[in-house]
Amino acid sequence: MAADAPEATTVGQRPPRVLTGIGVGRGVAVAPLVVLAPPPRAPADEPSAVDPATALERIEAAFQAVGSSLAARAAATDGALADILDATASMAHDPAMLTAVRRHLDEGHGPATAVTNAAAGFADALRAAGGRVADRVTDLNSVRDRVVARLLGADTPALHDIDGQFVVAAVDLAPADAAALDPSRVVAIVTEQGGPLGHTAIVAGQLGLPCVVQVAGITAVDAGTLVAVDASAGTVTTDPPPEQVVATTARRDEVARTLALDTAPGATADGIGVALLANVGTVDDTRRAVDVTAEGIGLLRTELLFTGRQTAPTVEEQAEAYRGVLDPMAGKRVVVRTLDVGADKPLPFLDRPSEPNPALGVRGVRLDRTHPQLEADQLTALGALVAGMPEADRDDVWVMAPMVATTGEAARFADEARAHGIRTVGAMVEVPAAALRAHALLAELDFVSVGTNDLAQYTMAADRMAGDLSDLLDLWQPAVLDLVARTIRAGVDLGKPVGVCGESAGDPLMALVLVGLGASSLSMSPAAMPAVRLAVRAHTMERCREVAAVVLDADDAGTARARALGLADPDVVGLLGLGRWGPE
Ligand code: PEP
Ligand code: MG
Repeated sequence: MAADAPEATTVGQRPPRVLTGIGVGRGVAVAPLVVLAPPPRAPADEPSAVDPATALERIEAAFQAVGSSLAARAAATDGALADILDATASMAHDPAMLTAVRRHLDEGHGPATAVTNAAAGFADALRAAGGRVADRVTDLNSVRDRVVARLLGADTPALHDIDGQFVVAAVDLAPADAAALDPSRVVAIVTEQGGPLGHTAIVAGQLGLPCVVQVAGITAVDAGTLVAVDASAGTVTTDPPPEQVVATTARRDEVARTLALDTAPGATADGIGVALLANVGTVDDTRRAVDVTAEGIGLLRTELLFTGRQTAPTVEEQAEAYRGVLDPMAGKRVVVRTLDVGADKPLPFLDRPSEPNPALGVRGVRLDRTHPQLEADQLTALGALVAGMPEADRDDVWVMAPMVATTGEAARFADEARAHGIRTVGAMVEVPAAALRAHALLAELDFVSVGTNDLAQYTMAADRMAGDLSDLLDLWQPAVLDLVARTIRAGVDLGKPVGVCGESAGDPLMALVLVGLGASSLSMSPAAMPAVRLAVRAHTMERCREVAAVVLDADDAGTARARALGLADPDVVGLLGLGRWGPE
């Protein structure tokens, strides 16, 4: 996608204009705007290909190049974004697409038109399938746009060609464009479309960037215009007056300075410890976790080692990869989650039929039913690492299974992991069935970790990728909070650790609720940690308990959050901009 480069800023030359949208996360930024131009389209009068066979070769090469570049970007990133990019790359390599393109070439269309028409046919089929499959139309279109741009020779002044720091604006941000963002240059993201839980929001959270979505008219603003983005307020001010620029910059610097001051272990104001752990997928993430003085890793997503590969990694390759995370964390807890793939996150070497409801299909721990070797190899690799550690460190390697629904699954996994020499074994609680039976589950395990992302999805029967269902996916929904509370209560009753590693743990206000309920650890993206640390340290355990009590008593998500806000320290609310953000 092309980018219109900023040429000049315009402080004070035009009256400011305030555009509003939905703020995602917190934070403020001021910088010139870069507008990502819409991708080039096949010209309406494109002549038909003179030689369809040669045209097809060119098109195939374009698809290959796009697929390879997406796969390379996936490999260079992590987390949800890497998954999205990998899935997009696999679409570029789909041979069925070329068959369809060939048909359109034979019908007399030009190359770019043939690709556009073929992609449209696939998009219709994906939309007809509905649900999560339909969401992949965005990915398909992003592949189409890149291939068409190559065919038309319109590929791209990229963002990295632009000097200085800037705010990125786009109609929506395709995963492939998001992957190109350099967090040292991009200071905020603004889009016209997208939901607060959509791709853009995921990427912004991962990069720790302020973001406002659903801002009508942002792409019509001239490139280079100075804008002040306030994610807490959900506003973008064009041509902000100099005093606003000064105030916004001062606020950003003050927040950064205040957050940087505290690097101590997580604890309440009265000194009750709550371990602050990091969610990571790569060695780079682990470095970021070290930078924010995380007390360990609360969720190592091992998927990244597997996605994009044509064959399963060997036990030795796995051990090497896990060592890359364990070594920088020596002396600290590392919770390794076994593979959470299957269904809509297919692996090329997994021979699995497609499923009508992938989110409800064979994913996570359920893969043991069909491919037991995968889990066995992971546990063998981890067990070997544990066996090679000094005695004092062996208790630091914890392992947990994703998508556990029954006590039987928990017991089987625990037996298996312990047989491989891993001493501390647990499960994610992200299926309502597991939360409802948390006491029984914990009787089999040493700990559990609540995955609020999937727990919200399955409790509310709302696809976690669906931006238009964001009200249902709100993590303050009473039903979700009830299940979180029930799970933590089981841990408190049995004297076993219950952590939270979904997005809830990275929200400073929700963190107070979780601490008040008795969560023993909070695990989040490294970017979220300083604000959570500050919020927890500013409140006593008694105050956190009060917050939890009033929140659990609320009948809807907006009321729950507003009540938490009402009891939170006003200085923290002001500093972190918590008051103006959120669904209420
Ligand atoms: C969750 O579901 O909350 C979770 C942490 O796991 P993931 O986001 O990887 O599904
Ligand atoms: Mg999950």
